[in-house]
Amino acid sequence: MNEDKSIQRIVIAGGGTAGWMTAAAIARTLGQAVQLTLVESEAIGTIGVGESTIPPLVNYNRLLGINEADFMRATQATFKLGILFDDWKDIGTRYFHSFGLTGKDHWSAGFQHFWMHGRAKGHDAPYEEYCLELVAALAGKFAHLPDDRLNYSYQLDSGLYARFLRQMAEADGTTRIEGRIAQVELDGESGDIAALRLDGDRRIEGDLFIDCTGFRALLIEGALHAGFEDWTHWLPCDSAIAIQTPNVGPPAPYTRVMAHDAGWQWRIPLQHRTGNGLVYCSRYLERDAALDRLLGNIEGDPLTQPNFLRFTAGVRRRQWYRNCVAIGLSGGFMEPLESTAIHLIQRSVLRFIRMLPAGRVSARDIAEYNDQQELDAAQIRDFLILHYKVTNRRDSPFWRHCADMPIPDSLDQKIELFRETGRVFRRNEELFAENSWVQVMLGQGIEPRSYHPIATKLRDDELDRLLKMLRGQVADTVASLPDHQAYVARYCGAE
Ligand code: FAD
Repeated sequence: MNEDKSIQRIVIAGGGTAGWMTAAAIARTLGQAVQLTLVESEAIGTIGVGESTIPPLVNYNRLLGINEADFMRATQATFKLGILFDDWKDIGTRYFHSFGLTGKDHWSAGFQHFWMHGRAKGHDAPYEEYCLELVAALAGKFAHLPDDRLNYSYQLDSGLYARFLRQMAEADGTTRIEGRIAQVELDGESGDIAALRLDGDRRIEGDLFIDCTGFRALLIEGALHAGFEDWTHWLPCDSAIAIQTPNVGPPAPYTRVMAHDAGWQWRIPLQHRTGNGLVYCSRYLERDAALDRLLGNIEGDPLTQPNFLRFTAGVRRRQWYRNCVAIGLSGGFMEPLESTAIHLIQRSVLRFIRMLPAGRVSARDIAEYNDQQELDAAQIRDFLILHYKVTNRRDSPFWRHCADMPIPDSLDQKIELFRETGRVFRRNEELFAENSWVQVMLGQGIEPRSYHPIATKLRDDELDRLLKMLRGQVADTVASLPDHQAYVARYCGAE
């Protein structure tokens, strides 16, 4: 990056969810301090998937001053309290990864230690019954509770979200240019990007370019060759088919992910329709068979033609390289099992804004940005691999491959520590906290061999009282919550 240049003109290439999330946030936070232009091509279009999100998006919208009911109406969103996993540990089993805290936080030891001690003492209530979000989700209930006591996110149409943000970004001064980027022009001296050349001989200059061109990665890879780290050996799924169906029954406040013999299927209910998709590994399942399987496992007649997608799990080696930052699919992709892609857009945008100086960009900023991005991606990668590696399933070549594959040392340490001691530690603002890891590790079938001795310090009657009280609080709160669908209709003003 040419360090003598101050950043005045920012050009965003691409107007999918990534492009407009980036534009809306920069326009709202930096205002007139920068000149912001976004180029997109309606003829090329967007990827057309991306529906399930995680709780930090609630704060992102708040940060941008978005009215939640307006946003939910515009994106046809429902509330989401977590993800229901079917057939992951074994065929016929299920578990739930919820957004909430299970039980009660204690500085020294997570609730799982007290629950395990309770089990040893004859308490047989499942771990799940101590989690408000989980019990509410399965009961189909939702309400905003004081102090955000019910931790939630949304299931939404990301194309509509992009449209909603576009209105905001344009109102805040973003210039939108319609056109196809035909060429990325480099500065002969510095090697930085000088301009985008569009069809019709238009030329758009900038000081800094944000690549939001999706899997094409026209700027960061096509022009700058930042490099790609392929993680297929850990995350073997490389294909997906998406299809939309009408809602059958009230939309549930959770996403469902059903494992099959070469991958998994999603079901994401929005207000007006349900998103379905099959994620699979093309080495073990052919495209036509995958489509048959998806069509055989949806409810209602399809509303759309199947959308066939190919991807490679992995990340761009340098997410910020020279005067170009890759945000969204151009920066990499890990399968949508834990709904992390839109979150990574948000995280990248906010990180970028934090590191944008008034004057020159420092090489140290770029290095810091890339280090932090790399850590985020690696931690999410490990969490995803966990779902494939730790399972009893051996019923197909795909699952046998997953059982045999080597895993990163960082994940091995986490799994084995939990197996031995029941402990999980969150490092460096890791996205998935202890509660998420514990739910998924227990759900996938790890039985810790021991637990923290602090749990044994409670007398039996104290332990009884604690467990009963926590479970009772969850049950009472859920009983008092309204039905999710009715709440959404009321909240969005449809009633
Ligand atoms: P795109 O939507 O592809 O947008 C690229 C933009 O660049 C478009 O505007 C396009 O027109 C423009 N463009 C490209 N080339 C040119 C050119 N030459 N000239 C001009 N413009 C150009 N994320 C989640 O958080 N939750 C999910 O549940 C989820 N599910 C997913 C399921 C699958 C199977 C896949 C593949 C992804 C999923 N994602 C999910 C990820 C999510 O879809 C993306 O992160 C999100 O939509 C952002 O995409 P994008 O904006 O980076 O790319």
